[in-house]
Amino acid sequence: MPELPEVETTRRGIVPHLVGRRIVGVVLRRTRLRWPIPAEIGSELPGQRIEAVRRRAKYLLLDVGSGSAIVHLGMSGSLRVLDRDTPAGRHDHVDLQLDDGRMLRLNDPRRFGALLWQPRGEVHELLSRLGPEPLSDAFDAACLMRVARGRSAPIKHVLMDQHVVVGIGNIYAAEALFRAGIHPHRAAGRISRERWERLVVAVRAVLQEAIEQGGTTLRDFVAPDGAPGYFVQQLDVYGRAGEACTRCGTRLRAADWGQRATVYCPRCQR
Ligand SMILES: [Zn+2]
Repeated sequence: MPELPEVETTRRGIVPHLVGRRIVGVVLRRTRLRWPIPAEIGSELPGQRIEAVRRRAKYLLLDVGSGSAIVHLGMSGSLRVLDRDTPAGRHDHVDLQLDDGRMLRLNDPRRFGALLWQPRGEVHELLSRLGPEPLSDAFDAACLMRVARGRSAPIKHVLMDQHVVVGIGNIYAAEALFRAGIHPHRAAGRISRERWERLVVAVRAVLQEAIEQGGTTLRDFVAPDGAPGYFVQQLDVYGRAGEACTRCGTRLRAADWGQRATVYCPRCQR
């Protein structure tokens, strides 16, 4: 599943090919993905110039004069920039045709992705109640302490709450907590300011490293072949239950929490 680093890497990969280009046509081979594709995608986009490609949480926003096309990659989606005459495969659901003879093509085998419309000056309801971006200055120890005060919920749960901070899934929550030396089940309300500060640094570092790695390992976004470039960086704990801790050698433990197992080092994480 594309996580925040993949979405950000995708954004950086497509920006040079899209910004400043005019959309000349929209091909919709399905009427819906996870949700119905709104009529504005077909009626508003053609003729407009792409002013910017932004990311908010795991949503990509293609800004044109009258609004933004919102793209979510869901479980299996990917975007690439191809020549307009490239034949469509079975899972190529949408093409945004550009004025330079190329197109932005959305492929999504499982169809949990989304293509939505946000009129200029409005905020789509999916984006309206999101927490701060983890790589922005708005994400800091003070804001985490504020939401955690008095809460007995496990820290990992709070870290994955999109109202607290966006874009931190199971993988990056586990990795950041390991780096910060915090036990994933520790009550969020019982963590000192110093440890919150360490956690903020750790969250930023694991995401930033993944984005940097994505930049070097992802396939070219203009290459017509191949799988979407999802990647997993060198991980310390995620998926490594029973293996040795990279720091102290202790066997990593898995604990069931919610529907997902979480992996941690019983010695390094308190
Ligand atoms: Zn350890």
